[in-house]
Amino acid sequence: MSGRIEVDRSLPPVAVPAIVWNELRGHALETVPEECCGLLLGKTAGRYERVVRCRNEMTRLHQDDPLSHPRDGREAFHMNEMDYVRIQQQAEEERVQVTGVYHSHVGVGAYFSGLDQASATEPLFPFPDADHLVISVEERRVRDIAVFRREMATGNFVGRVLCSEAP
Ligand SMILES: [Zn+2]
Repeated sequence: MSGRIEVDRSLPPVAVPAIVWNELRGHALETVPEECCGLLLGKTAGRYERVVRCRNEMTRLHQDDPLSHPRDGREAFHMNEMDYVRIQQQAEEERVQVTGVYHSHVGVGAYFSGLDQASATEPLFPFPDADHLVISVEERRVRDIAVFRREMATGNFVGRVLCSEAP
């Protein structure tokens, strides 16, 4: 498994609508001490116009089978399958795409961990073309939001800082 990928702060930030920014922050703060997760919808790749929350099932999975799921929801996320299937169907009906998958990190930075990369690239991951947004929460404050996008040319993930457009 490759190491973590940090945000490249030399790259220009990616701006998102203020409503998206506020929803990501709000969700991440509400679920502390656990990680939040969900999907972003938009008309085309690279656009994040709407945030739809998913339930994080990792604590339940961990409690049912700690050997298969050594981490709980404080250190990992697993999107509730019914939630994301429903959102995917809704997106199809509305002719929008799932352009991003987001989750938070509690007490650590907004990097793309080896575990995050492994789950994003596993063959059964439901949104192989989506970008990955990571919200870092430290001491009940959102420190950073980052977006990790796979570069066409190299296939590698590159991280940029996310910022809010003026409301
Ligand atoms: Zn992560």
